[in-house]
Amino acid sequence: MSKVKYYYDPDTLSYRKIEPKKSKKYRNLFFFVVGAALFGLLGLIVLLNTNLLNTPKELSLDREVRNYELQFEILTKKMEQMEQVLANIEDRDNNIYRLYFEANPIPEEQRKAGFGGVNRYKSLEGFNNSQIITNATQRLDIIQKQMVIQSKSLDEIAKLAEEKEKLLASIPAIQPVRNEDLTRMASGYGWRSDPFTKARKMHWGMDFTAPRGVPIYATGDGTVKRADNRSSGYGKHIRIDHGYGYMSLYAHLSKYNVTKGQKVKRGDLIGFVGNTGRSEAPHLHYEVFKDEERINPINFYYGSLTAEEFENMLKFANQENQSLD
Ligand SMILES: [Zn+2]
Repeated sequence: MSKVKYYYDPDTLSYRKIEPKKSKKYRNLFFFVVGAALFGLLGLIVLLNTNLLNTPKELSLDREVRNYELQFEILTKKMEQMEQVLANIEDRDNNIYRLYFEANPIPEEQRKAGFGGVNRYKSLEGFNNSQIITNATQRLDIIQKQMVIQSKSLDEIAKLAEEKEKLLASIPAIQPVRNEDLTRMASGYGWRSDPFTKARKMHWGMDFTAPRGVPIYATGDGTVKRADNRSSGYGKHIRIDHGYGYMSLYAHLSKYNVTKGQKVKRGDLIGFVGNTGRSEAPHLHYEVFKDEERINPINFYYGSLTAEEFENMLKFANQENQSLD
């Protein structure tokens, strides 16, 4: 309400009302309307920027989006942890397992190779959050691929380990006669004097002196290739094929406990000490072949002897005495 103003009229000696001019009246009205409109607009802007105007549905959606964002952040952290664990497994795989079983390490590029060619993430494009969703999907794809490669590598290693176990069970690795049954370890592999001619001659095996009838054991898993006396000098003898290029030979036996073609395990009783063939006294003559070459059997007793026993055997085996052949 505008104030009503008066003025003193000396002609009538009274106060008279001042009538505002028409133009001023309209101007005031205009300012009022514009002012009100501006104020209203300002209020609307303030309201829109607060939640006061949102409907309950909008408010609930808003809360849900914020929850998604939080959960997504937690999932990303978990993904990071997974990547670290996987990296650790891959490192051990390359530098311990594969190395131990003599398999080539799998290169980093091969383990972490992404997917080339078509854009696999096109369907994820065109949203505000496209970038973070695409990144996460890509990382998960790589993790998935890494896991497949790692799993295949472990399969390969399991197979190699099984082979290695078989190899370890197969190669000749124990003494063919028990220590308590031995009279002595008579002669080793190397140059020895022949018991019959006394000439120096290469002795291709080891002689274990033991009474007639003492049990002889297979020194590794394998198949009996021969159990006969049709090989000059060896008398009744057994040859066991261990695979992987290994063969062991047991000579001068008194009796067999196996037949040709029979499968044997390390430690199985295969025959008995005797004095058949070119032999001076009851003993076991023992040879080990690798790829058809005779090698020193002394290097194959790690499975059954203590360090002390092995040292004793080494001392005996290296004496340049007379072999029993
Ligand atoms: Zn011998």
